Amino acid sequence: MPGAHTHDLITVVTGVALAPLTFSTNLALGIDTQLALQQTVIVVGAHLLSGIMFSPDLDLDSAIDNRWGIFYWIWRPYMWVVPHRSRWLSHGLVFPPLLRLFYFFWMVVGVLIGAAWLFGRIGITLPNFHLVVSAAVLGVVTRHPREVWSFLVGFVTGSAAHSVADWLVTGGKRYLRRFGFVVRFNADNHDHWRGYSRRRARY
Ligand SMILES: [Zn+2]
Repeated sequence: MPGAHTHDLITVVTGVALAPLTFSTNLALGIDTQLALQQTVIVVGAHLLSGIMFSPDLDLDSAIDNRWGIFYWIWRPYMWVVPHRSRWLSHGLVFPPLLRLFYFFWMVVGVLIGAAWLFGRIGITLPNFHLVVSAAVLGVVTRHPREVWSFLVGFVTGSAAHSVADWLVTGGKRYLRRFGFVVRFNADNHDHWRGYSRRRARY
């Protein structure tokens, strides 16, 4: 499987390639130029966000959760529970990226509820931030369905570019081995990969 930087490069290259494709598809659907441009920016932006920040490799002790800085722990439960390269939960085409988005939303809501509870214990009443966030997300979904769809499309393609690259490398190595070529290139150690069982034993 390619390392984190190779995946970043793949994300950027596929994101750039996606721009003319999205733009022309929007035009073909009868959308005016200005709006088509907006949708293209949303799709490419979501593609980059998904590939770089919400990468499928958040399922392991990777360089990816470091990108979240002090909020890296948001991804720890996901990392503990999801087996590395699970086709259903991290390295699949459509469901896993949507699951990560859903997970992220509920973690944010959970943290806001937890913070309100903690402050409540010391007598400080916080506004219901979790309701504010939920209402804001719901408002965007209901008022801007086209933009939300574009975002979801880009979010799915950003993750799919990663998963397909992983499958191609693994499949390609296996295929070459069948013909007697042993591929010496081995990126198994990329971003500290230790394998699921060993990783679990460590925590
Ligand atoms: Zn991967």
